[in-house]
Amino acid sequence: MGIVEDNEHLEELDKKYIWHPFTQMKEWVEEKPIIIAEGRDCFIKDVYGKWYLDGVSSLWVNIFGHKKKEIDDAIKAQLDKIAHSTLLGLSNVPAIRLAEKLIRLADSSFLHHPSSLSKVFYSDNGSTAVEVALKMAFQYWKHKGNEGKNTFAALHNAYHGDTIGAVSVGGVDIFHNAFGPLLFKTYKAPSPYCYRCEFGKEYPDCKIFCLEKLEEIFKEHSQEIAAFIIEPLIQAAGGMITSPPGYLKGVRALCSKYNILMIADEIATGFGRTSKMFACEHEGAVPDIMCLSKGITGGYMPLAVTLATEEVYNAFLGEFKDLKTFFHGHSYTGNPLACAAALACLDLFEKEKTLENLQGKINILEDWLKDVSGLDHVGNVRNAGFITGVELVQDKKTKTSYDRADKMGWRVALHARDNGVMIRPLGNVIVIMPPLSISEQNLKKLLEVIKSAIIKICA
Ligand code: PMP
Repeated sequence: MGIVEDNEHLEELDKKYIWHPFTQMKEWVEEKPIIIAEGRDCFIKDVYGKWYLDGVSSLWVNIFGHKKKEIDDAIKAQLDKIAHSTLLGLSNVPAIRLAEKLIRLADSSFLHHPSSLSKVFYSDNGSTAVEVALKMAFQYWKHKGNEGKNTFAALHNAYHGDTIGAVSVGGVDIFHNAFGPLLFKTYKAPSPYCYRCEFGKEYPDCKIFCLEKLEEIFKEHSQEIAAFIIEPLIQAAGGMITSPPGYLKGVRALCSKYNILMIADEIATGFGRTSKMFACEHEGAVPDIMCLSKGITGGYMPLAVTLATEEVYNAFLGEFKDLKTFFHGHSYTGNPLACAAALACLDLFEKEKTLENLQGKINILEDWLKDVSGLDHVGNVRNAGFITGVELVQDKKTKTSYDRADKMGWRVALHARDNGVMIRPLGNVIVIMPPLSISEQNLKKLLEVIKSAIIKICA
C-alpha cells in the first residue's frame, strides 16, 4: 500500500473503532480526520506530512514542546529501570523525588507560608485529582468530628473534570446538565464574569459584588459546606473567564472566615501558564488543597497530584482499626515513567528560566489582544498570563452571542488549521494557549493566522 492508501485505511479504522471525546461522532465520521503522527518543538505533523503550530499545547498540557530531549531522555532512562510499580503498599524512586520537589516548589511559591501544602497524593488525570480533593475535604471534616459538612460550594461556569464528583462541582450547563440526577448537592455562586456581569455592574465600581454573593452562601450554609473549589484567576473550559483582581484573595479570606476548606484546581493554570508557577501566587492565596495535572509532565504522560496541608493530612492519622485511612487510589498512581518525566520538566523550568522568558511573549500576546479587541466581532479579550480567550460576538454593542449552532469558533479554528495553526475553541471563545517555550517568531505567526481567520470568518 502507498502512503495515501495507508492513511486512508487509518482514517477508516479511526471512524470504525474510535469514539472521540467531546465529539459529535455523526459529524466526525462525515469529515476527514487529522491524524497526528509526529511532533517537534511547538509543531505537530499529520500522517500526510503537514505541519501545524500547536496553538493549544495539545489540550493545554505541553510546556516545552514535543520531543524535548531532556524529557525524552528521562523517560528512556526510567524505562531501563522499571516502567511501573504500585504506590499501594510500596513506593518508587521517581515518585519520592518528585513529591519532595513539588512540596519545595509550593513552599517557595507560597513564600514559606506556615500552613503551606506539605503532602502529595498521586493520581493520573485532572478529574481524579479533583475527586481526591473532594473526598479528602469531605472526610477531613468527618475525622474532625464535624458530621454536618456534606456539601460543596463552587462557581457557575466552573469546570473541574468529567467524573461524577467533578461534574457535581461543575457549572457548564451544556456539559453538565444531562447528568443532573446523578450529581450530589452543591451551592453554586455567581461566576466572576465581568464582561457579562449577571448583576449588570462594572469593575472596579462593583467592589467585586460577586464576592458578596459568595459570602451570602457561605454565611447561610457554612455548617454544610466542606470546601469551596475554584479555578484560580481563570475559569478555563467555561470560556476563559478571568476573575477581577482581588477576587481570589477575597475567596481565600471568606473560606478562612467561614471555616470552609479552599480547594484550588490548578490543573489548567499550574506550571507557569499564568506567568507564575501557580495562579494562586498572584494573590497570595494559599489553598488548603491544590490539584495539579496537565503541564506537570510537560505534556508527556498522564499524571496528577492533589497537594494537602499538614492539617488536612494529620486528620487522617490514627490506629488502623479507627478506619481513618484515606481509602482511595488508582492502578497507575505515582507511575514512575510519568514521575520521571515530571522531574525532568521541573528541572527544565530552572534550566531554561521558562518563567523569566515568558514575560516578553505575554507582552506580545497582550499587544495583539489590544489590536484584535478593535475588530467588529470581537466582544471581549481575556488573558491570565499565557492563557487567552477571545470571545466572538454577533453584535458588539449589545454583546449578543453568535448562535452556538453557527459554530463560529470552530469555523475560525478550521480556517486557522488550513493555514497551519492548530487551535480548538470553547464555543464562541477562541482559545490561545501555546507551549510556554514557543519562540517569539512562532508566537507572532500563530497570532497573525488567528487574526486573519477571525477577520475572514466573522466578516
Ligand atoms: N480541572 C480543570 C481546571 C481543567 O481545565 C481540566 C481539564 N481541561 C480538568 C480539571 C480535568 O482534567 P482531565 O481532563 O485531565 O481529567
